[in-house]
Amino acid sequence: MTNIPHVVILGGGFGGLAAANELRNSLSATEVKITVIDKKDWFMVGFAKLWIITGTRTFENSIGSLNELSKKEINFIKNEILTIDLQNKNIKTKLQNISYDYLIISMGTILAPQKIPGLIENGFNLYDHNQLSEIHDKLECMNSGKIAISIMGMPYKCPPAPFEASLLIDSMLRKRGIRDSIQIDFYSPAPITLPAAGPEVSKQILELVNSENITFHNSSKIKSVESKKLIFENSEADFDLLLAIPPHIAPKVIYDSGLAKEPGFIPIDRDCKTSFENVFAVGDVTILSVGENMAVPKAGIFAEGEGITVAKNIISKIQSKEETELYDGKGGCFIESGKDTASVLQVDMFSNSKPSTNLSESTTDNLSKKLEFEKERLSKWL
Ligand SMILES: Cc1cc2nc3c(=O)[nH]c(=O)nc-3n(C[C@H](O)[C@H](O)[C@H](O)COP(=O)(O)OP(=O)(O)OC[C@H]3O[C@@H](n4cnc5c(N)ncnc54)[C@H](O)[C@@H]3O)c2cc1C
Repeated sequence: MTNIPHVVILGGGFGGLAAANELRNSLSATEVKITVIDKKDWFMVGFAKLWIITGTRTFENSIGSLNELSKKEINFIKNEILTIDLQNKNIKTKLQNISYDYLIISMGTILAPQKIPGLIENGFNLYDHNQLSEIHDKLECMNSGKIAISIMGMPYKCPPAPFEASLLIDSMLRKRGIRDSIQIDFYSPAPITLPAAGPEVSKQILELVNSENITFHNSSKIKSVESKKLIFENSEADFDLLLAIPPHIAPKVIYDSGLAKEPGFIPIDRDCKTSFENVFAVGDVTILSVGENMAVPKAGIFAEGEGITVAKNIISKIQSKEETELYDGKGGCFIESGKDTASVLQVDMFSNSKPSTNLSESTTDNLSKKLEFEKERLSKWL
């Protein structure tokens, strides 16, 4: 009997699920064994977090179960990954050791609020699924004061999401008739709203938030947080409710394995290969440089594209064909306006070797497409 190659996928998020499904859709269980390992047994499309904050969703009706993977003959192991042993091709989890022939690392980022002194004690983490309901409750109770939305490190995932959050919160407060009593300030360490999307799109986003009376404070590099006070390198600001996007780092096991240096990410090229044979990395845990100063943004749509690229190359290798796929860097992100409409930010990271971006008009049709995007991912992957 010939050995069936074993593809082990670390992380069942956007990149991992896209890769697992692409592999299984092309190769049967007699041709490839696929194992996905994740410490949690659910998947959620990131933007649903904002709907939990606004109250149009609950956590329970926004997730899909990773246990559904078994229906496609994809093994799922719910366990924390403790060690990646690249020399011996072995993964150690809390309960077992798993050996691989091919490894896809799609472990995303870790949110690190502890890197900002005083943040955990004095502010909320806008991206932490455990804090969303409490943020919703705070917003529902607030009748006056100042809301601060603060980006506390670069790069962070889904660059437009904090801007969408500010617009959705604005709309929530307007519906309650108390928007005029609440000030919304947006702080970013960057000089423009969306550096990865370029100056033209950044200007459009700035106009969008300004039109709703949300004040954007650029080049605001955070040092620490005190009770009701943000301390920046060159200034201070008061708040009553702080919604922070904390610094993002890679999971500790990535630094322990030597694949990346703290606080960075795994460097890859468009083939998503690491320096170890048959070991690939995709999505937020990686850094894929574009030119000298830019990188592919951390977003699900890019993690998905990279996952598919890697899967196609592994399929070719298993079929003894040439591996020819390179990630194309193309994707679209929906940006909600808070008025039941959304625009689409189309990105082509490698067009003529420099990124090109385009922001469409905000329409109700695009908001329906955003809902469809989520539904499609949950139904085709799980
Ligand atoms: C509010 C918000 C809105 C967003 N909106 C959009 C959007 O509109 N469009 C878009 O494209 N993207 C969006 N994103 C970003 C998107 O969610 C991420 O970029 C995407 O999930 C990255 O995919 P990934 O596979 O790299 O990592 P993830 O999806 O984060 O998956 C990583 C997985 O690895 C697991 N893991 C990590 N460490 C371990 C360990 N030690 N042991 C076991 N398991 C481990 C995690 O549990 C996780 O399930 C949004 C994100 C947020 C927070």
